[in-house]
Amino acid sequence: MATIPRLHVMADLQQDAVVALPAEQTHYLLSVLRLEPEAAVLVFNGRQGEWLGKLERSGKKAAALRIVESTRAQPKAADLWLVFAPLKSARLDYLVQKAAEMGASRLVPVFTERTQAQRFNGERADANLIEAAEQCNILTVPARMAEQKLAPLLQGWPKERRLIFCDEDAPLANPLHVLAGLPQSEPLAVAIGPEGGFSPAERAMLLALPKVTRLSLGPRILRADTAAVAAMAILQASLGDWRG
Ligand code: SAM
Repeated sequence: MATIPRLHVMADLQQDAVVALPAEQTHYLLSVLRLEPEAAVLVFNGRQGEWLGKLERSGKKAAALRIVESTRAQPKAADLWLVFAPLKSARLDYLVQKAAEMGASRLVPVFTERTQAQRFNGERADANLIEAAEQCNILTVPARMAEQKLAPLLQGWPKERRLIFCDEDAPLANPLHVLAGLPQSEPLAVAIGPEGGFSPAERAMLLALPKVTRLSLGPRILRADTAAVAAMAILQASLGDWRG
């Protein structure tokens, strides 16, 4: 049975609504997937769950979806921020997509002293977040903060949010045991440094936060994108929504 395509839309979703599709999504449904009128399409907007839509053609290059019924309620979003230093393009695309798949609720791109990338393409990141959500059956698209330097981010850090500082210089200790000792329902963030690591001054700033936990991710130095996925997996399993 062919899988029903899933699309992210901006519009509000409710029964009998008609959602006009932008040119790119129209082209995808009509020309790439060659869907016929009345074909089923699943749509979500990241706020109101998932709905079944039926394709309506209104001309050669225009299409809309008539919303028929709700198929999934909007899940309670996890509350896990990913603080990361922008990487070079392909690795950054990977990191952003995995953050969505792993259930990050917010991406926080920070420029640190040793960040290799000179700029951060927010639009490209948003497209990657939406693509990951469409492909992986996710209904919540992570929010994305504007890129900023580490110092102002930490100066304005919400004091109730615990920062899990992934530190390759932390003493080797089983991260599951370290996380098991933390309160179970705090808002969380995980910080991953750039390929060159955090500088000593940045480490000191991170460790000065009111709620911070240094976490070793094992005896080997991981690439930043690998570390991000590993850390989010351990966090979701210990304190997040993988616990069921
Ligand atoms: N300082 C590293 C070196 O000597 O090559 C470079 C940093 S590493 C490539 C990028 C980031 O991934 C680090 O800043 C840290 O946040 C995380 N990371 C990598 N390996 C880790 C480990 N074994 N334990 C904890 N964090 C790690």
